[in-house]
Amino acid sequence: MIKAQRGTKDIFGEEIATWQWIFENAKTVFQNAGFEEIKTPIFEATELFNRGVGDSTDIVNKEMYTFSVGGIEKNETSITLRPENTAGVVRSYIEHNMSRQSPPQKFWYFGPMFRYERPQAGRQRQFHQAGVELFGIKDATADTEVIITAVNFLKSLGLADLTVELNTLGCPKCKNDYKNSIKEILAPHLENLCDDCKMRYEKNPLRILDCKNENCKKIFEKDEIKEVILKDYICDECREHFDELKKYLDELNIKYTINKMLVRGLDYYNRTVFEIKSEALGSQSAVCGGGRYDGLVEMLGGTSTPAVGFAMGVERLYTLVDKITPSKTDFFVVSNNTKEAMKLVQKLRENNKSTEFDLQKRKFAKQLEKASKIAKYAIILGEDEIEKNFYSLKNLSTGEQKKIDSFDELLDY
Ligand code: ATP
Ligand code: MG
Repeated sequence: MIKAQRGTKDIFGEEIATWQWIFENAKTVFQNAGFEEIKTPIFEATELFNRGVGDSTDIVNKEMYTFSVGGIEKNETSITLRPENTAGVVRSYIEHNMSRQSPPQKFWYFGPMFRYERPQAGRQRQFHQAGVELFGIKDATADTEVIITAVNFLKSLGLADLTVELNTLGCPKCKNDYKNSIKEILAPHLENLCDDCKMRYEKNPLRILDCKNENCKKIFEKDEIKEVILKDYICDECREHFDELKKYLDELNIKYTINKMLVRGLDYYNRTVFEIKSEALGSQSAVCGGGRYDGLVEMLGGTSTPAVGFAMGVERLYTLVDKITPSKTDFFVVSNNTKEAMKLVQKLRENNKSTEFDLQKRKFAKQLEKASKIAKYAIILGEDEIEKNFYSLKNLSTGEQKKIDSFDELLDY
């Protein structure tokens, strides 16, 4: 038997109503906040992620599904299944010259992402993200808009008690000072850091703070190192930006904690970074990650454009929300006259009523039994009803039955 690939999952049956509900909430909340949907391709040129996610990240180093495709045209191109969607949205923003419109440009997306990771609870190889990206505004109003949209989405799903963790990485200048101090203090410990951290030490030292290796974490706990990590390297302008963001969030009653170890997995972030976590998820506790990436559009070849966004892990959301029971179909037409039944079913569906009938032409009693399992009402279309032109409508939860004289009257149910 051929089975689904490790780290992938069929979503169907009892789960689907909840998935659809999560999607509908994303759509409503994001669109109410003025974000427009964008659907970018599921694969892109590998180079987009190498540059746009960054070659010191776990994603690029270990987790990408990369293929070489030649085919008819013979000139081989390397493509990669998208591991995240910011790079794709930025590519699209640049390609379609969206910076010509007056800012902000605001987009949302919902779709599958692919990362070659060790599958475990809350970690799959094909998973889904719902996210937003906001372009063109450098003010902290944009950071606030993005964070409040994430929080509103979680609230719409009934998830109110999650923690927003916040940090600022500063601009390239503050980031550089920070990097240098970290390199300096860690230099004597370099031998004892894990191989990943040794690589990060060269390529992107801030990312060392994101290491999940227990041994490395212990090193960061040393007093003299901790002091350097927790010290502030933020310039006046970056401080102002961060203070403004915190002020807005306070105003809006959004609770947050400052986490100075929060650097996020991707290379391109500057200033604001944030994560939203739930204790209920165990070790894979983050449902949402986001931040500001003012340098990315220019780095990928566009005109310099500030931007900020987030991505939510939908599978992790799914485990947190109360599950939705699928709703019953409005009508089930019970009849031995298949032709008349079909005609009525068709008319009801044309009027946006969910309606089913028995495709197996079974006996009346069997049809009613099926109807009571899946429908709110049975419409009984017997010989008498057809001849005298009326409907018998049975409420399947109360058992009450009544005579309905016209089709229009049926539509009221
Ligand atoms: P983690 O530290 O858990 O690996 P990350 O920093 O790699 O997360 P991001 O790239 O920020 O994750 O993605 C945003 C969100 O997408 C995460 O907070 C998480 O909810 C979800 N996510 C990331 N990777 C996976 C995965 N392999 N399976 C399921 N959900 C994932
Ligand atoms: Mg990861």
